[in-house]
Amino acid sequence: MSFPVSYYCPHCGALVEIEREGYLADKSVTPYPLVGWEYAAPEAEFEGDADGVQFVCGESDAPGLTWTGERSEADDVENPHGDSPCGREFYLSFVRYEDGREVESVPESEYVDIGL
Ligand SMILES: [Zn+2]
Repeated sequence: MSFPVSYYCPHCGALVEIEREGYLADKSVTPYPLVGWEYAAPEAEFEGDADGVQFVCGESDAPGLTWTGERSEADDVENPHGDSPCGREFYLSFVRYEDGREVESVPESEYVDIGL
């Protein structure tokens, strides 16, 4: 059974609604991809293989996906008075598990490759 879930673009606040099957837990919506997560476009069969969904604000299109034309008034929207939809990418990440434990995301800026 699927049900609609809404998210907003962290850049401009544009609201998008998608039909979700509901068996994957959402971790976060961020303006950048999390290190170690693999993202699929919303028109792909993202539930199952991917660790998240890559949206293009106002442009992503898929069955069950709707840009509502409204904007979130959340405090963490980067540019609440700019153009919306903004056409930039943002990322919905699902919770990932490895060996039964939840994988924590590493901020890009603190991600350092050691050795080699
Ligand atoms: Zn946007």
